[in-house]
Amino acid sequence: MNADLHLNAAAEPLKGASPQWSREDAQAIYDLPFNDLLFRAQTVHRANFDPNRVQLSRLLSIKTGGCPEDCGYCSQSSHHESGLKASKLMEVQRVLAEAKKAKDAGATRYCMGAAWRSPKERDMEAVVAMIEGVKELGMESCMTLGMLDLGQAQRLKEAGLDYYNHNIDTSERYYNEIITTRSFADRLDTLANVRDSGIKVCCGGIVGMGEEKADRVDMLVTLANLPEHPDSVPINMLIPIEGTPLGEAEPIEPIEFVRTIALARIMMPKSHVRLSAGRTAMSDEMQALCFFAGANSIFVGDTLLTAENPGEDKDTMLFRRLGIQPMELVTE
Ligand code: SF4
Repeated sequence: MNADLHLNAAAEPLKGASPQWSREDAQAIYDLPFNDLLFRAQTVHRANFDPNRVQLSRLLSIKTGGCPEDCGYCSQSSHHESGLKASKLMEVQRVLAEAKKAKDAGATRYCMGAAWRSPKERDMEAVVAMIEGVKELGMESCMTLGMLDLGQAQRLKEAGLDYYNHNIDTSERYYNEIITTRSFADRLDTLANVRDSGIKVCCGGIVGMGEEKADRVDMLVTLANLPEHPDSVPINMLIPIEGTPLGEAEPIEPIEFVRTIALARIMMPKSHVRLSAGRTAMSDEMQALCFFAGANSIFVGDTLLTAENPGEDKDTMLFRRLGIQPMELVTE
């Protein structure tokens, strides 16, 4: 399928299976003159979303540090010397008190992350109670707990979990440069288990890890060619952390980042494309360009798991200047 056909297909609501993308078609769109790329992305965006609404989610680390995985970007890995202190799983009541505060501040989705390779049986009871508690508050729930087998995914679904985050991080080609303790195929297996259990998928990656442009394109092609597009596609800009293997990584050029957002929007027209980690290093103008390119979801709050995030006042000011409103929670 060529790039023009994709624009037309994307402007119509997608029915049934998603179209398959080739790397060549995706690359051709990524490489368009910048104004053409943004025009296409914005056209697709308007056909599928209110262009002046952005979804607000809040993320809490419910179990920090001491992770046995060796993700090269992560301060929580026990393989790196980032100086982060490991903590135990938070108590359910504390998590729910934080969720209530987030709701009062306008967040509609509550995301909870644990630094695990995969959840242990002994932790499942608390995790289930957290999901049930967040649902009772009338918020959507999302968790990221590492790899899941089908049985674990089904238990989380029964508890009422709406979304599960599990990122593919980068292209299959570049993956082993970043993580060696689990494979790209392991990632796809967990995504299949989440999807098969009926939980909505949140899956994206990180750019600025020294990858090539082709890796960014390939990562998005993998996501766009999943049996169903992820409901949410977080695109993170690496925050280099001292003591991690990527602590000295060169920052990605901002225009390349915006191109990545635009391509995600065009290839996955109905997904929430989330500007995730890295917003503290972006100017207001860069964030505005990302919203124009089709990003329509952000994390709010001062921290993202362990990384910095712009404070709520700064986001409120930016939204006011751009005429952007928070997206309402749509319950099905
Ligand atoms: S990214 Fe997740 S899985 Fe990887 S080291 Fe960090 S906490 Fe562990």
